[in-house]
Amino acid sequence: MTTRYTEPVLNWYRRHARDLPWRAPGATPWSVLVSEIMLQQTPVARVLPAHRDWLARWPTPAALAADPPGEAIRQWGRLGYPRRALRLHETAAILTARHGGAVPADVDALLALPGIGRYTAAAVASFAFGQRHAVLDTNVRRVLARLVAGRPRPASTPSVAETRLAESLLPAEPAVAARWSVAVMELGALVCTAASPRCAACPVARHCAWLAAGQPADSGVRRPAQRYDGTDRQCRGRLLGVLRESGSPARHADFDAVWSDQAQLDRALDGLVADGLVDPLPDGRYALPGGRPGLPGGR
Ligand code: SF4
Repeated sequence: MTTRYTEPVLNWYRRHARDLPWRAPGATPWSVLVSEIMLQQTPVARVLPAHRDWLARWPTPAALAADPPGEAIRQWGRLGYPRRALRLHETAAILTARHGGAVPADVDALLALPGIGRYTAAAVASFAFGQRHAVLDTNVRRVLARLVAGRPRPASTPSVAETRLAESLLPAEPAVAARWSVAVMELGALVCTAASPRCAACPVARHCAWLAAGQPADSGVRRPAQRYDGTDRQCRGRLLGVLRESGSPARHADFDAVWSDQAQLDRALDGLVADGLVDPLPDGRYALPGGRPGLPGGR
């Protein structure tokens, strides 16, 4: 269906959309999938060079699947949450073995891939294959909460009602619906931002329920910003950095230079091993999984 929001948002997107490689006309489904995994927890500015380098090195799932998983972790660099690299490698192997090396267009097939939840499956089906799905990321949820529901921000987890609302706003034509989804997402990223929405520049300001209500403040309890310094997550990042930057496996003592708290170091290292991000070798050293061809730990 077409709503009073459709044309203003689509026209705005036509004029203001950022030029992102995964949105380019020739972008492959693999490029879209990689971008969605990288964007799950990392901002666009940091994803751009990582996505470019990843696609240059592994332009197809088969190319990635042919390398050991440790290389995916190495290439992931400092994007954070490196289990995503491992899952992307697993996905590449599954696509190569079961899907003829192609990203499937079917949402259920996408949902069966590692690390792909409802949002990512809908996003890939929409943006790579022009299908009609409600794509509810944080930006879309915030725009719809303000524009339609008159609330400053959405609830912490998406509700069935929210999904129904998003579906009710989708244009009927699949290709237009896909464009609408990415346009709302972009509006949330560039104009209807979390901290300071630029309502004067918003194409649907005159229809916005939250603006009309005088932008009432949030009555809910805000979650405090997550700390990073000193956390196990930071420690894990440092340990992986040691393995990424050296071309060979590391001894336990090699990690001491990057983290002084031994109990926390051991806990983080155990966690990395349990998550499959680090392989303990028989000689007591540690390596990225699968190592590199020709190195100890290679499979
Ligand atoms: S008018 Fe302001 S709050 Fe409403 S959708 Fe636009 S940017 Fe967001």
